Amino acid sequence: MGSISTAGEAVARIAYLASHVIVSVQPALATDSEFSETLHSLQKSKAPSVVAKEHPEIVTVRQNADPLLSVFQPIRAGRLTSVTTDASILVKSIPHLYKFAQYPVVIHVSVHPAGFPDFSNITSIRQSGFTFLQSETLQQAQDIALTAHALAIKSRKGVIHFFDPGSIAFSKEIAYENRELVRGLLDLDSTAAFQNSRSEETTLYADDGRNATLSVARSQAGTAGGVHVGPLSTGDNGKTLPASEETSTRAESSSASSRRESSTGGESASSATTVESLAPRPVSSEDIYRFASQIWANLKEATGRSYDAFEYTGPPNAEAAIFLFGADTAIFADEVDAVDDSEAYAHAGIITARMYRPWLGASLAPLLPQSIRRIAVLEQVRRKTTRWGPVLLDLLMSIKSSGGNSPLIVGYQLGYITDKTVRQALRGVFQNLTSESPVQNLQIGNMDGPRQEELVLEQPGLENAYMKILDQVFGERLHIANQSGAKHAGISNEFTSSPEYGFGSLLARKERRTRFIDEARAASKTDDFVTKAPLEWLAKWALAANDGDKANALAPEVISRLSTDGSAAASQLLSSKGLFFSESPWLVGSDAWAYDLGNSGVHHVLASGENVNMLIVDSQPYSERAAADAARRKKDIGLYAMNFGNAYVASVAVYSSYTQVLEAMIEADKFDGPSVVLAYLPYEKETDSPLTVLQETKKAVDLGYWPLYRWDPRGDEKGEPNFQLDSERIKKELEEFLRRDNYMSQVMKRHPEFSANLSSSYGTEVRQLQKRKAKDAYSKLLDGLAGDPMTVLFASDNGNAENLAKRLANRGKARGLKTICMAMDDYPLEDLSTEQNVVLLSATAGQGEFPQNGRTFWETIRDSTDLDLATVNFAVFALGDSHYWPRKEDKIYYNKPGKDLHARLVTLGGNAITDCGLGDDQDPDGYQTGYAEWEPKLWQALGVDKVEGLPDEPPPITNEDIKIASNYLRGTIEEGLSDTTTAAISASDQQLTKFHGTYMQDDRDLRDERKAQGLEPAYAFMIRCRLNGGVASPKQWLQMDEISTKLGNETMKLTTRQTFQFHGVVKGKLKPAMQAINKALMTTIAACGDVNRNVMCSVLPQQSQCHAEVYAISAKISDHLLPSTTAYHEIWLEDDETKEKRKIAGDALVDNEPLYGPTYLPRKFKITIAIPPHNDTDVYAHDIGLIAIKGADGHLEGFNLLAGGGMGVTHNNKKTYPRTGSMFGYVTTDQVHIACEKIMLVQRDNGDRTNRKHARLKYTIDDMGVDVFRGKVEELWGQKFADPKPFKFESNIDTFGWQKDENGLNHFTFFIENGRIEDTAEFPMKSGLIEVAKLQRGEFRLTGNQHLTLSNIADEDLPAVKEIMKKHKLDNTNFSALRLSSSACVAFPTCGLAMAESERYLPELITKLETTIEEAGLRQDSIVMRMTGCPNGCARPWLAEVAFVGKAYGAYNMYLGGGYHGNRLNKLYRSSIMEEEILEIMRPLIKHYAKDRLEGEKFGDFAIRTGYIQETTHGTNFHENTAEEESDGE
Ligand code: SF4
Repeated sequence: MGSISTAGEAVARIAYLASHVIVSVQPALATDSEFSETLHSLQKSKAPSVVAKEHPEIVTVRQNADPLLSVFQPIRAGRLTSVTTDASILVKSIPHLYKFAQYPVVIHVSVHPAGFPDFSNITSIRQSGFTFLQSETLQQAQDIALTAHALAIKSRKGVIHFFDPGSIAFSKEIAYENRELVRGLLDLDSTAAFQNSRSEETTLYADDGRNATLSVARSQAGTAGGVHVGPLSTGDNGKTLPASEETSTRAESSSASSRRESSTGGESASSATTVESLAPRPVSSEDIYRFASQIWANLKEATGRSYDAFEYTGPPNAEAAIFLFGADTAIFADEVDAVDDSEAYAHAGIITARMYRPWLGASLAPLLPQSIRRIAVLEQVRRKTTRWGPVLLDLLMSIKSSGGNSPLIVGYQLGYITDKTVRQALRGVFQNLTSESPVQNLQIGNMDGPRQEELVLEQPGLENAYMKILDQVFGERLHIANQSGAKHAGISNEFTSSPEYGFGSLLARKERRTRFIDEARAASKTDDFVTKAPLEWLAKWALAANDGDKANALAPEVISRLSTDGSAAASQLLSSKGLFFSESPWLVGSDAWAYDLGNSGVHHVLASGENVNMLIVDSQPYSERAAADAARRKKDIGLYAMNFGNAYVASVAVYSSYTQVLEAMIEADKFDGPSVVLAYLPYEKETDSPLTVLQETKKAVDLGYWPLYRWDPRGDEKGEPNFQLDSERIKKELEEFLRRDNYMSQVMKRHPEFSANLSSSYGTEVRQLQKRKAKDAYSKLLDGLAGDPMTVLFASDNGNAENLAKRLANRGKARGLKTICMAMDDYPLEDLSTEQNVVLLSATAGQGEFPQNGRTFWETIRDSTDLDLATVNFAVFALGDSHYWPRKEDKIYYNKPGKDLHARLVTLGGNAITDCGLGDDQDPDGYQTGYAEWEPKLWQALGVDKVEGLPDEPPPITNEDIKIASNYLRGTIEEGLSDTTTAAISASDQQLTKFHGTYMQDDRDLRDERKAQGLEPAYAFMIRCRLNGGVASPKQWLQMDEISTKLGNETMKLTTRQTFQFHGVVKGKLKPAMQAINKALMTTIAACGDVNRNVMCSVLPQQSQCHAEVYAISAKISDHLLPSTTAYHEIWLEDDETKEKRKIAGDALVDNEPLYGPTYLPRKFKITIAIPPHNDTDVYAHDIGLIAIKGADGHLEGFNLLAGGGMGVTHNNKKTYPRTGSMFGYVTTDQVHIACEKIMLVQRDNGDRTNRKHARLKYTIDDMGVDVFRGKVEELWGQKFADPKPFKFESNIDTFGWQKDENGLNHFTFFIENGRIEDTAEFPMKSGLIEVAKLQRGEFRLTGNQHLTLSNIADEDLPAVKEIMKKHKLDNTNFSALRLSSSACVAFPTCGLAMAESERYLPELITKLETTIEEAGLRQDSIVMRMTGCPNGCARPWLAEVAFVGKAYGAYNMYLGGGYHGNRLNKLYRSSIMEEEILEIMRPLIKHYAKDRLEGEKFGDFAIRTGYIQETTHGTNFHENTAEEESDGE
């Protein structure tokens, strides 16, 4: 049997057994209370409960979030609910307590600070109607906790069980509770009866008169008080209580020490005599006492431990006694026991209250020996509201009313007592007690208590975000009023964090400043200063002191004059120098202020009209909003404040728009009156990763749960709109408010583009209607046709299952069947049982899951118990990849959805007309192999296999068809852009827009949620610039930055191919963005698509001369290979007038593509240039790699040309592989663009146009052989490649920090993690770079590793540049070399191909590895680590020394052995591993490398030498000799 060592554990275990629901109140969600750890471990181990069917529900609530709100719903539903908490929540919860007193709620309270608690938290709520029980030892904690539950059930009234965990901490360990005893005491019949009762109550605060009642004999029903007689039942089953024990003599005391004498208990109820009909009456104090006595009697019988309402220990002839309340009784009892007879307190009795409420005064007097003349009442109650201690008053009343010769009662305030000071304390007590006229209210012990180890409630890291921004925006001017330090703002449960407190302190501060201004003004007229300057500046300042801007501008001047003065007057003023500034006063709170109990403070501030700003951080995650208990209603403070009329209100979310947070804070500060900034920061636990917070925020903002807006009630006075909507969707309540205030129409007029979102409401009903309509339309269509029906349903993620289903439906039609084809989730499931023939096709997603558009269908089928498919014929075809899950145990995922569906339909009585068909990507023809076998069986089963004269089917449309039909890349892009009914464009236009430099994507963070809401995905576009060599002027940088802020998602990505990429550009902003890019003298044409892309060029900060020459060549090649189509200009840049004219002229323009022809290239084509010894552009990874060769004069002479490099691969498809370029030879500078052109042309004519996975130049070269291919190029070119010249690469990473070039100009390479330019609260890098660009000095060079170099800064400009860099922390390059050498692609949320996170995850992974790196002493040693979200390879992972390539969400293939300077491919080391395994592999590997590497040996080389991995010598052997087969091993 286990043992228990803390009261929290003992109590939590009992609560677990005796409750249906436990509300576990915690200081913070990630900080355990003394109960919560036990509760959660019981829950985790699925320990069974006694009252709950399986185990109780545990609801975790933060202490400052009005936690008792969570009790209403379960208790009213008849579920036994208990609360575990410390005492700090009680006083604030009084309105709830009054209500819960009439329900069997048990609240277990640990009183703090442990060891010297303040019991005023208990005494202040003593009138709340609850029964109060106290325990003082560990054993009591267990027994009294059990009593509390048993009593609550029996009396149907609330019980508060309280204890000091500190004094209990010294008790001996006890055994686990006896389950049978718990069961016996809990009265399960009464529990069941309570469960069947449902409260009709709905209000939270109004008293609707509920009273706990008992059923009693009708003749007794009126006897609600007084001494009770007669039969009594608890209103459940009419059972009478067994005759309780009469006054009993206790054999042993249960008080803290083993006292010498036994004593007598209070009176108990009488026994039953007759049985009559029953009537309800309120539960009286005596009832409670009787129930408690009965419970204790049973407990005693089982354990021998006895308890009573009051407990007296001491000699039966004692003359004096001490009544202890809240003290550590054991210390006193031990001292009284041990002391010799000479002490005045030697024979004193000790009285304690086990049951503090109801206060059964009448039962106390009989308990005490008649001999007692004086009683000292020692109360550990520090915050008293009356002069007399509450227990003293109780006692006085009781003893007085008992009449007779009542003893003298003297009250004491008890301080902190230890076993060392108790003797002195008791002496003091008794000296006073026994004196002739004792003094009341003497203080005994140390009133300050022991030095407390303060519980440091740290502001959760996440919540810091807003505090940091406040700090950044207001700096010295910031004043947070409701906490001494910003650290605790908004999270503490202390009074000092409440808005009332802060507001009060602000008013005081305001007065203080007014006085300070007077003082300064007076000082300016004295001659108290040593120097003259202060007088003049003080006078100036005093005049402007109430004008914020002016005062703040003058403040530093005044302070500086005073600082150099040295007089006493100056020091006096400087001692409050903060007051020279006009502060920005803020109250910072959490969403606790949105609950009713915290809301009054907000109201108070609003009503005052004072110029105070409130920042209220709401942390409720969007996905929990539906699950949230209805009773935990929160006020919408924003609406409340707007309705108030006088306040500035903003709703912001830092993880959605950083800029908007800044705007809102600045506006709130400027607004003269109260301001409320509601800030969203959703998290479940304070330790949530920023990625989770980001995803939650996006959902909430996107779907209008947390709209971003700003409201200035005086906007119209300034001719500005009052309401500014900053997100696209708006929630209903807000919409109603705006409509009511007639602002809605204005907003709609001003933003017609929002009107659809603003006014339409989406939801399940609409979705249902859509499904019904679609089905009905089909049905109508089919009615006129003959033949059997066939319903084809598909679940498809990448389109294969959908295409197959549509084709099957068409073929069915051709065979005379009436066919319907739709996605499973679009099908009205209620019709399924009436179908005749259903054919279902499902692809396999994730870990054997249904694709998104079949998930709901499957879940409904899976969970349905009443679907009868007895008359339904069905067939299932499943698509998947048998090699997708390399591990044997994961093989079950292969085609799992289809197989599960088949089995489930059989279970539901369906008639399978074929076996479940299995399509496998690994088969020679992919899934078509299995499908070709299965389809004929289907036709046979349906009796349509012998149909003659079937029509020929059109071949599927390929990219090549789209290109041909597009009229030189026009397609229907124009039409698509002007279609406002959808945010998307057509599938074929999606292919074509790539040639124009833009991809359609959808936000994958929002995909599921929008689907659930019946909305189309959140489509937006990625735009990629074409920027050869990655060089931009400062002006261009500013222009790019503005595009990202105004038209994109406020961030920019610097790509691995040295260009700018914008994400999140919605369709309506696509054209303006393209125009803005062109206005900045950049373009996007041919940034993507089957053409030559951006030409890269080494950044080369140290050699400007050489860079200039090579850069010129990159521009020349880029221009030379640019497509000539005019479609780009026509679609994106032409104004409407020109367009109109051209149309009238009859589209006279005829395009011609001399280099590309109408079908362009078979696939993308990439060229890069590297300048040895730096391979920072990964010259081996591109279709053409040019290695610059300098002549003897130091000038560029020519290039060694590599061809056939390429990264894209498909998992498990060994026909695809990465490849490093093959050396073709040397070519001179003047010929290099021609050589490139000819290679491109040979590829154009020989590349595989039938299979895009085999269309890149690398496959063409390997298929033809390098020599043959080169021969064709030379033939076309009319020249031959010369022998390659010698060169040497040293690395492929960037060199960070400052470098000087040969001309004396300075260059600084910034570390931009994964190329993402954005502002965060921690690092406002984007804003910093704007400041740098505004200096208009030098140029910006984007590196191939996604970093940024500020180039060509003259020495004289250095100080200004450095100052800005320092201010924005941009000069920090002090990161581990591992981080500096890392690189990740975009992946989630925007890349449609991503299988796993990359850019958002790699930094986290590196952080987890850095400790090992530090320990191994490798902080300065570069290891090239790369990550991509899929095998497409955008961050060139196959050349990294260690790489992770996404396989499924959270799972990666790991590769080792790449060459340090990008010269050698790596090889598969492990497949499909998750973080835990990655760390398990990497940590020892890093240590091994540190220990056993050879001098200068690089990590990739080491991994090969020491046998971790075999060397990859060519792309074609990339899949050979891998450390792990990417198969199931069968
Ligand atoms: S590597 Fe894959 S996931 Fe990453 S950006 Fe490229 S296509 Fe997307």
